[in-house]
Amino acid sequence: MQDRFVYTAHPSRVVFGAGSLAALADEVKALGCRRAFVLTTPQQEATGADVVAQLGPLAAGLFPGAAMHTPIAVTERALAAFEAAKADCTVAIGGGSTTGLGKALALRTNLAQIVVPTTYAGSEMTNILGETADGKKTTQRNARILPETVIYDVDLTLGLPVAISVTSGINAIAHAAEALYAQDRNPITSLIAEEGVRALTGALPIIVTTSRDPTARRDALYGAWLCGVCLGAAGMALHHRLCHVLGGAFDLPHAETHTVILPHALAYNAPAAPEAAARIAAAMGVEDAAQGLYDLIGRLGGPRSLREIGMPADGVERAAALAVESPYWNPRPIEREPIRALLERAYRGARPEA
Ligand code: NAD
Repeated sequence: MQDRFVYTAHPSRVVFGAGSLAALADEVKALGCRRAFVLTTPQQEATGADVVAQLGPLAAGLFPGAAMHTPIAVTERALAAFEAAKADCTVAIGGGSTTGLGKALALRTNLAQIVVPTTYAGSEMTNILGETADGKKTTQRNARILPETVIYDVDLTLGLPVAISVTSGINAIAHAAEALYAQDRNPITSLIAEEGVRALTGALPIIVTTSRDPTARRDALYGAWLCGVCLGAAGMALHHRLCHVLGGAFDLPHAETHTVILPHALAYNAPAAPEAAARIAAAMGVEDAAQGLYDLIGRLGGPRSLREIGMPADGVERAAALAVESPYWNPRPIEREPIRALLERAYRGARPEA
């Protein structure tokens, strides 16, 4: 462990368990609120309508328009509806996209947020918000962005499609893995990271065969929570940077990109971060973290090549150039040729190599 470190907790209240959505009205009142504005994507509008019905007089309205990457135009429409409804808090129910809209409203209104996550993205545990306007993404951290209350109701994840469960789960593992070798790593975040990796890698194979298994779903959501804490508590490195570059340059899907890249990023960094690699492997119960993860993704039926998720063949050179463009901290120096080779292997879906 490090001799010196800084640990900052991001305090929020967590209500966890199957059926815990039943506590929503009490949680709204516990925040001193009386008019909750419910947010969903268009795909989850029916769930939002159920929540409005459940809240009864505590519901101020429903905005079922959350979209990927938190477009500012959507936020402005939601803000107008929020103000017209005279709402005093938000209830975001859905994945990272919906959570992002709740955070964007909280940033602008300084009012309280309750988040009810239904994927494993982990955004609900961070004070980070990425917003897009005119195709450009800007990311910021601000205390207002951190949700006050998170309700993890395992029942809401039982129907999360298996393919999304897998990629969203590996996306979560990426937060924990990078926290273990982050420049600002610390023993507390590392403990949380190990437990997050253990819980998710144990649960995902069961979810793939028995998608509504309540114990596996419980463990996966618990793991996703812990991995989200890691994302909020430690700086991210090569893996998140590569995914950001690939998503921005080729409009690749978020969680799928994380799934393809993670084994390769871990293999690249393992020689420079042997303790982190060993801790990830131990938490997974495998010999080698990168190889074990590549095999696990294969067994789970997740994507292993950038080609299959829409990357153009001539994109490797461009992505390598973008990835080395601006310097950032990583345990192993970021060098053009090995990064190009990494991306080339990831494009083909080949085994990771250091
Ligand atoms: P998402 O929120 O875009 O959800 C994907 C789709 O799945 C949506 O249509 C959604 O309605 C649907 N869905 C969600 N839960 C479901 C369920 N239980 N059953 C059926 N359908 C369901 O995807 P995501 O992976 O959760 O989030 C990705 C976004 O979150 C990205 O924009 C990413 O940048 C952001 N994110 C931000 C942070 C942060 O800290 N700021 C952290 C992680 C992710």
